[in-house]
Amino acid sequence: MKKLKLHHQILIAMVLGALIGLPLNWAAANGSVDAELVATIADVGKKLGSIFLRLLKMLVVPLIVSSLISGVTGMGNLKKLGALGGRTVLFYMSTSALAIFTGLVLVNIIQPGVGADLGLIEANAEGHAAPAVSSEDQGLGGVLWAQLEGMIPTNPLKAAAEGDMLPVIFFSILLGIFINAVEHDEVEGEAPYRDEPHEKARASALAAKLREFFEGLFAVMMRMTLFVIALAPYGVFGFMLYACAGRGFSAFQALGMYALTVAIALAIHAFITLPLILRTFGSRSPLEHARAMTPALLTAFSTASSNGTLPLTMQCVEERAGVSNKVSSFVLPLGATINMDGTALYEVVAVLFIAQLTPGVDLTIAQQVIVALTALLASVGAAGIPHAGTVMMVVVLAAVGLPTSAVGLILAVDRVLDMCRTTVNVWSDSIAAAVIGRFADELEDEGERA
Ligand code: ASP
Repeated sequence: MKKLKLHHQILIAMVLGALIGLPLNWAAANGSVDAELVATIADVGKKLGSIFLRLLKMLVVPLIVSSLISGVTGMGNLKKLGALGGRTVLFYMSTSALAIFTGLVLVNIIQPGVGADLGLIEANAEGHAAPAVSSEDQGLGGVLWAQLEGMIPTNPLKAAAEGDMLPVIFFSILLGIFINAVEHDEVEGEAPYRDEPHEKARASALAAKLREFFEGLFAVMMRMTLFVIALAPYGVFGFMLYACAGRGFSAFQALGMYALTVAIALAIHAFITLPLILRTFGSRSPLEHARAMTPALLTAFSTASSNGTLPLTMQCVEERAGVSNKVSSFVLPLGATINMDGTALYEVVAVLFIAQLTPGVDLTIAQQVIVALTALLASVGAAGIPHAGTVMMVVVLAAVGLPTSAVGLILAVDRVLDMCRTTVNVWSDSIAAAVIGRFADELEDEGERA
């Protein structure tokens, strides 16, 4: 018998959890089944779900560290890339910021989580679910400064051990940059081995080994993530049973509104913002570009993996959209690693949705800005594989002290959203390639004239 696809398994698990949970909830409410028994069943569901959640959390540190380091070292000799690299990163960060802004506006207008109760949000260990970052007596500047300062770890290993992700991300990016610098001998100033060609070559060879180590770690971590994600049906079943037996129908309503909010925000970014950027800065027809990219976009949609789609994205961008290989071979692999507009947007909506669900929490503008900044970093750190954005959400939730238990329920509707956001991620990469391609052509023309 052919094995069921994972998203079908998740769907079945979800329906099964609801089919068992809802009648139990109903029976407990009208007294035909002992309410305590139903509560026990709901608790078993919760325990099953939390095992899955722990497995997900286990992946976060090694996955981000290896993804970031191999992403940065994959950029190659930084100096040579110079202008192209700088502009590409700037472009990527700007489109992701626009996507985040769209998500923020929509989640504040629609407010999918207000008034809903999924029963999954609990007070954290200190007995309250208030955000850890208090902005009452600091202005926006103060809060941002504290966040910025906190990004520099005084001890990277301690930060990793405590799951303090922002400092880990900061350190990983720096480590990647310096592995590159030593491998390609770009270290400025007086290095101890500066005058010894032999020492220099040795340091470069060692740095290359370190790069390979992180590449290997990344490949293994990606496989491990896929393995844990394959257990999602059990986790989803558990959480669904818990939510439905404990809360009944209200659990569905809120999830539907949340999914709708993500979908509308993604559509605005994909159909309005990005095409406008392509037309303005790339002087291309968005419709024609979309036509050229169709095979890659459809693949992204069905696989929910921008890494998996990469070969097709490159082929479409080069052969169907006519962007030079010099540009696409640099812009696209980098984009598949660090440019995830759809993921960034989704992180913001999901985290604010969870905040809206959490009793006693009302995120201020300053805290929402922190969510936005963390979401940007989380999208940079997310690997281009299915559900990676959900794994990264733990980081964003932790940044504002929100409980992570709701991630389990969000997973129930995650596959469809993942397909949509991955398509947006790839669409954004392809637009970057077209715009940067035009810029690179101009640089070359100028060079020839000179
Ligand atoms: N699946 C997404 C991608 O590959 C990442 C995510 O989970 O958001 O682009």
